[in-house]
Amino acid sequence: MAADIGFSCRCGALQGILHGASAASGCHLVCYCKDCRAFAHRMGVADDLLPGGGSPLFQTTPAMIEITRGAERIACLRLSSKGLHRWYAACCDTPLANTAGSSRIPFAGLWRPILADHTALGPVRTLGFTQSALAGIGAPRKDKGLARMVGGLLRRGIAAYLSGEARKNPFFDSAGHPVATPTIAGPTPPPAPRQQ
Ligand SMILES: [Zn+2]
Ligand SMILES: [Zn+2]
Repeated sequence: MAADIGFSCRCGALQGILHGASAASGCHLVCYCKDCRAFAHRMGVADDLLPGGGSPLFQTTPAMIEITRGAERIACLRLSSKGLHRWYAACCDTPLANTAGSSRIPFAGLWRPILADHTALGPVRTLGFTQSALAGIGAPRKDKGLARMVGGLLRRGIAAYLSGEARKNPFFDSAGHPVATPTIAGPTPPPAPRQQ
């Protein structure tokens, strides 16, 4: 059953709706890549990471994501000049979604913890970049469901073009320009030495 699910940044200034969310409308995944994890640490939301340092995401088409309030808070950080566009709410540093650098590639990996409820997404189907997972209890052993993820990306991408939905995107305007200028981050600062 598809559901419209509300989401909000941590302070509540930015709010929105994920429309038509269901197990079929996107890919419920956990990404163990270092960049997703580094971004969570930079935003101060490392507590939301799963065992093994995984980032819970729902990868879907950007047209399904509507910002209903506080769109002017949207900011964008890239961890390198080749990195994904990582969108967040600048009011309180809450991750929103990662996207490609162009609205012509209609996918967005929504940061799942912002959703009020994620039952409608069904269980996690895909584990990605597990070779970068942190060792320890609950760490995944191998990737899972990547072919399904890529198939879904292509299928939803084509459907978005056919329906004209590909132009609807909260992170890029109708001319294809990012709604906020992406900042390219410097290297992650090392943890501050502990005070004696
Ligand atoms: Zn906020
Ligand atoms: Zn990742």
